[in-house]
Amino acid sequence: MIRYPFIYNQVLQIYRDMEQIRFPIEPDNIISRFSNCRIRTYQQFAQTNGCSIRDVILLCESKSGCTHYDVANNRYLILWNSDNADNNVSGRKRWTKAHELGHVVLKHLPLVAEPMLAEHGFCPMETSDFEIEADQFAATLLCPMPLFAMLEIKSPLDIQRVFGVSNEASNHRWDEYIKWLRYRRKTAWENDMKRVAMQKGIILP
Ligand SMILES: [Zn+2]
Repeated sequence: MIRYPFIYNQVLQIYRDMEQIRFPIEPDNIISRFSNCRIRTYQQFAQTNGCSIRDVILLCESKSGCTHYDVANNRYLILWNSDNADNNVSGRKRWTKAHELGHVVLKHLPLVAEPMLAEHGFCPMETSDFEIEADQFAATLLCPMPLFAMLEIKSPLDIQRVFGVSNEASNHRWDEYIKWLRYRRKTAWENDMKRVAMQKGIILP
C-alpha cells in the first residue's frame, strides 16, 4: 500500500521548514538540516574506505544511489554516484538524492533494518512499495503539482527548466499532471502547499 497522504504531508512539512522556496530544489540543502543524516558521493566513499567505485556499486546494489542505516545509532548515510557516465545528468542526480531522502523521511530503513542486521547494514530495499513511495516523494518534493499553475508550467519543457529534472522525468511528470488535473479530488494539502509557497515566496531559476 502506497501511503500517499503521508508522503504529501512529509513534503508539506519540508516546505514549511524552508525559509524561501527556491527552484530547482536542492536535496543537499534539505539533507543538511537532518542532524542524523549525511550525504557522500560514491567517489568520496570509495576513497575513504580504500575500495573501488565498482565495490560501492556492488555494496549499494545500485549504480545511482543508496542509503545506509545505522540502526544502533539511528544515523543515515546517503551515497550517490556523481559520475556523469551513462547519461547521469544533473537532473538525474537531483532525483537520486531526493529519492534516497525519501527513504529516510518515510522511515523505510528502520522498517526493514531488523532482518538485514546480520549483513552489513545496507538495505537493498527490494520492497517495491518502498521504491514507489520514494519516487513519489521525489516527484512531489522536486515538482509539486499544486504550484504548477502559479509557476505557469505549461509543458514538459517548463518542468525541466523550473524544477531541474531530467528530460525523461519531465515527460513523466507532465503525464501525471494531466491526469491529476482531470481526476484529482481537491484536498487541504493542495491548498496548504499553495499557501506555504505564497507566504515564503518563490525564487525561480
Ligand atoms: Zn530506492
